[in-house]
Amino acid sequence: MILIDGKKAAAELREELRKEVVELKNKHNKVPGLTVILIGDLTPSQIYVRNKEKSAKEVGLKSEVIKYPDSVEEKVILDKIDELNKDDTVSGILVQLPLPKHIDKQKIIEAINPSKDVDGFHPMNVGSLSSGYESSVPCTPLGCYLLVKKIEPNLSGKKAVIIGRSNLNGKPMTQLLLKENCTVTITHSKTKNLKAECLEADILVAAVGIPELVKGDWVKKDAIVIDVGINKTDKGIVGDVAFDEVSKSARALTPVPGGVGPMTIACLLKNTVECFKRSQL
Ligand code: NAD
Repeated sequence: MILIDGKKAAAELREELRKEVVELKNKHNKVPGLTVILIGDLTPSQIYVRNKEKSAKEVGLKSEVIKYPDSVEEKVILDKIDELNKDDTVSGILVQLPLPKHIDKQKIIEAINPSKDVDGFHPMNVGSLSSGYESSVPCTPLGCYLLVKKIEPNLSGKKAVIIGRSNLNGKPMTQLLLKENCTVTITHSKTKNLKAECLEADILVAAVGIPELVKGDWVKKDAIVIDVGINKTDKGIVGDVAFDEVSKSARALTPVPGGVGPMTIACLLKNTVECFKRSQL
């Protein structure tokens, strides 16, 4: 079984981006800039943002975090986004989710100029991805996709099964694999006989949020299994895949932690660099 090392893949991607940023700086005399807006003091969000900032600096991006208290008014955030949309030194804007209840998430997402939407959540980017046009792709599925491609560069004709239909993970993953000519089945909480669907998969992506849902006998021999889940349990953080069982049957599997997670941040940096490059055309 191949243990898909997300940490290593993310370090390689960051190194590629670091070199690219040097080239871009030489060519344009400026570097891509990432601005993150962080609202409130939720600890996981603070940790994510700190990691994003650290990684952005590591690859040579201009990185800024703008913090607001939980009580900030929606209009203050919308005005700041408007200002950042007009700022040439900002290539990418990310508003860290979740947001406090009084702030309308969709309004915030739609306020970001699609050409600076490094999360790929703006409806314009969602539409572009499903139409097969160039766009920002949500970072976690993009990371999953790059990991699958490392194991199997030619995905044409493969049967892919995705568990979970969220806008964040399942749906964009479907689009990425369709583009590669996979035959994609998307499953969800109302799917009948999930095990039978999973057993069809050459590529199985679990993005559910249920600890160790996918068992060893749900996975075809030689399947590539990508575990997106991050679940806090008594025995620590586990994925949506029963790692010990599935590692005996699968061809390749991502661990949790150390699989998809590190790729998510590296892909955010990749999206920032891509937004910068498109803005220079
Ligand atoms: P979500 O709650 O938005 O969506 C979960 C999906 O799972 C839904 O579409 C639902 O229909 C489906 N589902 C629920 N129960 C099911 C069942 N019994 N059988 C089949 N499908 C079922 O979740 P999300 O935001 O997509 O996140 C999914 C998981 O991925 C979570 O554990 C989350 O923490 C993790 N996550 C990880 C990263 C990362 O960087 N690794 C990033 C984002 C999310």
